[in-house]
Amino acid sequence: MNEKENKNSRRDFLKTAGAIGAAPIIASLAPFASAADKQNSKSSDPTIVPTRPFGKTGENVSILSLGGVLDTSDLLIFRQAMKMGVTYWDTADSYGGGKNEKAIGKYFTKFPNDRKKVFLVTKAATSDPNKLTEKLNASLERMKTSYVDLYFIHYVKDVKDELTNDVKSWAEKAKAEGKIRFFGFSAHKNMENSMLSAAKLGWIDGIMMSYNYRLMVKDEMKRAVDACTKAGIGLTAMKTQAAFFAWFYASIGSETNDALNMTENFLKKGFTEEQAKLKIVWENPNIASICSAMPNMTILQANVAAALNKTKLSLKDRQHFDQYAKKTAGGYCAGCADICESMVDFKVPISDVLRCSMYYHSYGDRDKALALFNALPTSAIENICKTDYTKAEKKCPQKIQIGSVLKKIHQDLS
Ligand code: SF4
Repeated sequence: MNEKENKNSRRDFLKTAGAIGAAPIIASLAPFASAADKQNSKSSDPTIVPTRPFGKTGENVSILSLGGVLDTSDLLIFRQAMKMGVTYWDTADSYGGGKNEKAIGKYFTKFPNDRKKVFLVTKAATSDPNKLTEKLNASLERMKTSYVDLYFIHYVKDVKDELTNDVKSWAEKAKAEGKIRFFGFSAHKNMENSMLSAAKLGWIDGIMMSYNYRLMVKDEMKRAVDACTKAGIGLTAMKTQAAFFAWFYASIGSETNDALNMTENFLKKGFTEEQAKLKIVWENPNIASICSAMPNMTILQANVAAALNKTKLSLKDRQHFDQYAKKTAGGYCAGCADICESMVDFKVPISDVLRCSMYYHSYGDRDKALALFNALPTSAIENICKTDYTKAEKKCPQKIQIGSVLKKIHQDLS
């Protein structure tokens, strides 16, 4: 076996161990609760995912949230999630074109007593109060429920423009009518600015934002989380795996030794790299929950096992993450769109296009990537190939080769 084959088989072994062995490996560790975890958890049952307070809402939510990208009419995963204490469910009117909400509705029709046990979140990508009413009513109908616990405006880019006084009045009315209990938004780009602005508004109950081992160490993100915590806003982390463009490996030759060392280090401790990426986020007590897409039972079990495991990450573990994040920075978009999008002559939503690339090149989800790409303004798509990204690349803190990535995804999806 030559050196390249040797490296590949070692990497394949580690990935397979991570995917297949996750649940048994971590589940073999005896759980023991720290004082902080006992405070944070209402459940004393070591087989049930613990809960944490969700901001100032007075609600406790499971620290693991069932992400909504489920294309299934199989209700088993919902049933199993309930049994394991994963009672925070996240969806959106757009997921699967409404199929995910319909699956939830099917579940509640079959198990009506479970509705009140679930902290149910859905979202709509509009700030128009009339459309919000229309979309909320349609979501309630699909999910066969009279209310959602938390309603989000999906993919907020600018708090000033999107969370207007009209939206505030709409949220207050929807609460008074008993259709929503809490209100907030999700943020995939310029998260820190949106969080800081929301903390000043005084009427935002919850935010779901991109948050992971790459982003949580940044000073801006630390400040944003602190501000939201002080304002009593419940925080849910998403994109915790911080996936990067798979083709990026080609540009650095292969996965770095840091990546392999990190994976081996975690496996020796009893958990996979994927589970460690969840654990490092949970170690911030100000994050109430992690929203994770769990399309099958293996991933659900592995994530639940990580949530139940009480082994703390060490300083060395954090250093492994740090080194790995630095080595692979050029393959991960941190969502700081204000920086790069102001540096190009033609209007191109750079971070949105990179998001399409993430779905296509990292998750292999061409349908989702294509749906997001086609939802971009036609002028933005036309501008992709005629724009010079030199200045934006110089300013990008991640040193992403923006021009090459954007042109590649344009070619792949056009
Ligand atoms: S391309 Fe760079 S500057 Fe632009 S959003 Fe992504 S990480 Fe930030």
